[in-house]
Amino acid sequence: MPKSDQGPEEQGRAALKAALFVHRRAPLSRLLARRGLGPYRGYGELLEALDRLADRGAQLSLIGRSVRGEPLLAVQLGATGAAGAGGYREGPAPAALPGQQGGSSRGGGSPPRAASRPHGGTQLNGAPVAGAHLGLGAQVGADEPAPDDAAPAQPDEPAGPIARRGPGGAGRERARTTVILSGIHPLEWIGVETTLALLERLAAEDLGGRSIFAVPIVNPDGLLRVEMNLRAGRHRYVRGNARGVDLNRNFDAGWYERGLVQRLIGLVSSPGSRPASEPEVEAIAHALSSRRIDRALSLHSAGGAVLYPPAHSLWPVADAAEHRAFALRVARAADRRPYRAMSYVRFAWGIRKAGLEIDWLHDRHGALSLLVECSRGKLGLRPSRLVEPFAWYNPRKLDDAAPQLVESVLPFVKGARA
Ligand SMILES: [Zn+2]
Repeated sequence: MPKSDQGPEEQGRAALKAALFVHRRAPLSRLLARRGLGPYRGYGELLEALDRLADRGAQLSLIGRSVRGEPLLAVQLGATGAAGAGGYREGPAPAALPGQQGGSSRGGGSPPRAASRPHGGTQLNGAPVAGAHLGLGAQVGADEPAPDDAAPAQPDEPAGPIARRGPGGAGRERARTTVILSGIHPLEWIGVETTLALLERLAAEDLGGRSIFAVPIVNPDGLLRVEMNLRAGRHRYVRGNARGVDLNRNFDAGWYERGLVQRLIGLVSSPGSRPASEPEVEAIAHALSSRRIDRALSLHSAGGAVLYPPAHSLWPVADAAEHRAFALRVARAADRRPYRAMSYVRFAWGIRKAGLEIDWLHDRHGALSLLVECSRGKLGLRPSRLVEPFAWYNPRKLDDAAPQLVESVLPFVKGARA
């Protein structure tokens, strides 16, 4: 079967299996444990974890490819939030696809509205209502309101029943979507591990008609580079993608307001040649283009802080109070000693930064957007940790940090009110 006939799910699983074939290695955690760097998993092991999530019914879709061709995989739980079928086509455009833009691997430039799905029977937006949860955990009474103050508490929220009902229902009534991103900065592996733990937790929850759209590894090329450095014992600082672009300066947010300081910073870490110049960022922008996103969470490290927009402006966002309420709530629950909660620009000492994901998700999609700087970057006194950049961002005791972080963000991610 030609690859272009595959639905996004089949594409996602096939791309994951192919990447697994290439990247299966001895567990990274054993090597890191010996050096006091914590139980972090390698890229191949992280892909295996995504594969297991898909086994449990999570929908895995291929939304694009990194600079070096690694799959950019989205994990979706709950209701289908997209109006159409993904819109990403694998491989170079075959001649049989008229209307394809030259040199682009996309299925056309416009949002994929109301596209027919060749494998609709396996999709979430069709008639089988219970299938919206794909048997994840015990989905007793999937149409009943969630026990907490999640989506059903919102009176204008028809997404639960309607988005999952009837042919093409999802095309008209899009479910509210929570976006979760991690692995943008390749040294910040605690974010990836926390996202995976969060997805495992969410897979057992009733999402009340909400759609979860997560890209756990936004920068696979960067992660692979860090992993190779770790395995070779090289103490290197890695911040960008394979072209050296800081992906969290490449989103289309405040790009043309870049002042002198930003441009000087740009000499150190590149923001890219234009907004969404990098395939990793472009893939996310495209995959989210037709979604109704009201919550967004991006997991970074370190610094023990919960940050909200803006980053590119000194002026508070219009919904600053709501952001602050959620940020404080997450910050209090994130650790025994609460994290700090503030706008990104304040956290950055008033230095405005363009191209951040939280600004883009807020400005472009209107989402309440939080960036969590997981853990506090405590190094201790072991020389092996002091000289190793990986240790600056990732606590040795991951199991002490991640479960509490998962619990702290869970209500926000599920759509609870402030
Ligand atoms: Zn970061």
